[in-house]
Formats: sequence, structure tokens, C-alpha cells
Amino acid sequence: MLTRWSEPFLQVTDVTYQYDHMKSFSLAKQSFTLEKGKLLVILGPSGSGKSTLLQLIAGLLRPNQGTIIMGGKPIHQLPPEKRNLSMIFQKPYLLPFLTVGANVEIGLKLKGVPSSERRVKSEEILHQVGLTGFYQRPLSSLSGGQEQRVALARSLVIEPQLMLLDEPFSQLDPLLRRQMGHWLGDMKRKWEIPMIMVTHDREEALTLGDQFLILRDGVAQQSGTLENIYYEPANRWMADFMGIDNVVDGIKRGTRVTTFLGDLEVHPHCVNVPDGPVHIVLRSEWLQMDSASSIEATIESSAFRGEYTEVRAHVNGESVVIKQLGFSNYERGTKTGVRLTTSNVWCLPKEVM
Ligand code: ADP
Ligand code: MG
Repeated sequence: MLTRWSEPFLQVTDVTYQYDHMKSFSLAKQSFTLEKGKLLVILGPSGSGKSTLLQLIAGLLRPNQGTIIMGGKPIHQLPPEKRNLSMIFQKPYLLPFLTVGANVEIGLKLKGVPSSERRVKSEEILHQVGLTGFYQRPLSSLSGGQEQRVALARSLVIEPQLMLLDEPFSQLDPLLRRQMGHWLGDMKRKWEIPMIMVTHDREEALTLGDQFLILRDGVAQQSGTLENIYYEPANRWMADFMGIDNVVDGIKRGTRVTTFLGDLEVHPHCVNVPDGPVHIVLRSEWLQMDSASSIEATIESSAFRGEYTEVRAHVNGESVVIKQLGFSNYERGTKTGVRLTTSNVWCLPKEVM
């Protein structure tokens, strides 16, 4: 049997952009690929270039350099309406004087789809987004979450080959945001539409994303899977951005590193980090209070955070954060033991801060 080599659905290669040569912001070379049915999350602080990158893919901006290939065809020279994609923004941008149905049908109307067919398709898509029977409702009767679902229905009804979402749920309250996130995950699985979503919300990002791209000042800091960005931060900034509490000093020699917890094995992906002073990255959940451990910990503080207790302790001259599931009450000054639950540790070249 012949096996056909298939290219990734979307290939963004060396795309750069500058708004104005006099201004400081520029998007440095961005490259990534996306498969059908996968969701790429773009994360980064405000002003890091997330929306700029999305607009380059949408065709609202033209790259200075680089190529964008979708379904085997270059699209970076095409106007937005020829790119066969949909973009969803923070605000739904609906037409308030029209009904829900009329808003959903706009794209189909522009494509010349006859009215009876438009109605069938729109009612079906409204059903899919959980708005069955809303076709004839005035837009003014909807809540914020319902409006954003109308915007999603309007995007989905034209059967786009790619969906771009720019902080789509950031204006909704947390509970609704979570519901919409689950719903989007279902849609992605059911329809296999590749999606690129920009979000500020780390929990939403980590729940929904299959792949990640993290930007800082227009420069990609890291891209990869959840495992990569969660466990294997590419640099000190990424470790902080991913909320890693414990970045401590160590001295590396080959595959071993001397730390406040003793002599430990280096993660296999870090053996090429130059020997000498390094940063050791320890997620707080990798440390456990354990009175049987020979490594002594002195409690500095402990605070219950709803689902876990955040304990700060002094261990061999380092102050570290340890997260214990559930509620525990440790008195300041208590001496106990601490244990590392991983067999090796992530190391980064030491950066001068
Ligand atoms: P993000 O979406 O990550 O918050 P943006 O991509 O919107 O960031 O913006 C990145 C940078 O580009 C910011 O410094 C912003 O001020 C600048 N910028 C955005 N839009 C324009 C524009 N139309 N003209 C000039 N500069 C812009
Ligand atoms: Mg933005």
C-alpha cells in the first residue's frame, strides 16, 4: 500500500511584522504548524504581539516577510475574505437591530446562499451552540454569553477551514467562561476545525490547548505541547510565566547537580546545559512534606488557598514553596521533613537578572 506523506494543514514560516519602522514593536520571525482538529493557544503578556500574529494569519495585516500555507496553498497574499477562515474577537460585533438568525446568516448571504437554505443551516448551527429556537429572537434579548455564541454560530455556519479566536471569552464571567471553554473543546473534537486562540487565562489555555506558543515582546519564548511548557520551561522568564514557585541555585557537573536537597540527577533534556552554576526549576507540587525524610524543613508560613495549602519552608538555606493538597495547619517554626517526588530535575543556564 502506498503511504502518502501529508503536510500539516497550516504552515506559518518565518513571518515577521512591523507596524511602523519608527516605532519599537516588531514581531520577530514566527514559525509553527497546525494539524486539523488541533487547537493552538497563543499566550503572552499584554502587548506581546498575540493579536498582531492572529491578524497576519487572518489577512487583516500583511507580513513583511515569511509565508503562510493553508491546505497546501499559500494564503499570505490573499485578502481576508479569500482565506476561508473565521475570526472571533473579544466583543461579538453583532448587528443589534437584526434578529439572531439574520446575524448568523450574514456570511451565507454574502456567498449568495438562498434564503430557505440559509435558514435551515442557521437553525442547525444555533442548535449546535445551544441556542435552539433563538432564530427569530431580537438580539437585544440576549445575555453576553449568548451573544458570543451567536458570534460563534455566525463564524461556524460558513464552514471555515480555520478558526481564529482573539480572547473570545475574556468579557464573560468566570463560570460562563469555563462553560464556553468546554463547549469550544467539544466543537473542536466534533468538527475537527483547526483553531488558534489567544487568551490571557492560563487555566483556559492549559485546559483547551493541544499546542502552545508563548510570546514576549514579539519574540517566541517557547512553543510545544503542554508537557513541554509545563515541565520544561525554556528559560527563566518562562518558568516565572508558568507560575513555577521555586527557581533555586545549583551547581551542575555532567548529569548530576548539587542542590539544597542534595546531589540530584539532571533531566535528560538538560544534560547539555553548560556545567557550573545553574537554575534548578522545581514545581511546588514536586515537593512533599514528609516527617520521615532526612531533609529538614522549618515552616515559615502556611496559608489555605481553597483546594490546597501553600506552605513556605526553609530547607538548607533556601526558602521554598510546597503545595499540599487539602487543608493542613502548620505552625511557624515547626520542624518537619521534605522530600522531592521526581527522580530528576530541570536545569536552566544561570541568567544574570
Ligand atoms: P497583544 O495582543 O499581545 O496584547 P498586540 O499584537 O495587540 O499585542 O500589540 C503588540 C504591540 O503592537 C503593542 O505594543 C501595540 O501597542 C502595538 N500595536 C498594535 N496595533 C498597532 C497599530 N495599529 N499601530 C501601531 N502599533 C500597534
Ligand atoms: Mg490582543
